Amino acid sequence: MFAREGRVLNGTFAVSSLERLHDLLVDVSGDVSFQIQGFKGGRGELLLQLQVTGFLPLACQRCLEVVSFELDVDSLLEVIPEGADMSQDELEDDTRDFLPVAGELNVAELVEDEILLALPVAPRHEKCGLPGAADAGERINPFDALAGLKGKPN
Ligand SMILES: [Zn+2]
Repeated sequence: MFAREGRVLNGTFAVSSLERLHDLLVDVSGDVSFQIQGFKGGRGELLLQLQVTGFLPLACQRCLEVVSFELDVDSLLEVIPEGADMSQDELEDDTRDFLPVAGELNVAELVEDEILLALPVAPRHEKCGLPGAADAGERINPFDALAGLKGKPN
């Protein structure tokens, strides 16, 4: 198993090889960089610090043009044996996530998982060029809409 104290693993993955991301991307060229560092926590538990960086082309939900999303994943994961029983305290510990591993750590799958968690649900340009997009976020007050109906002939 990869994860040992003090060990650091660096590398890149071609986006084209991270197939679970493909449905979310406008194109699958380019790559992402990762670094994983293994170390022991205060209870002797095995921790992984995972960082993933890169740019992914997402589709803007308003204009459908490309939004270049900057990945900046920095996660702390505690490696636990697959199928391990966990106490409620452990489950509620939000300083870290738990990573069940059976045998060898699948780095590509882990990186892919972390990217999926990091991607925005509804990506948008900060300043979307679509005409009318600037006021698209304005909420219509239902009472105003009703007031407008008052007094109108049927
Ligand atoms: Zn847009």
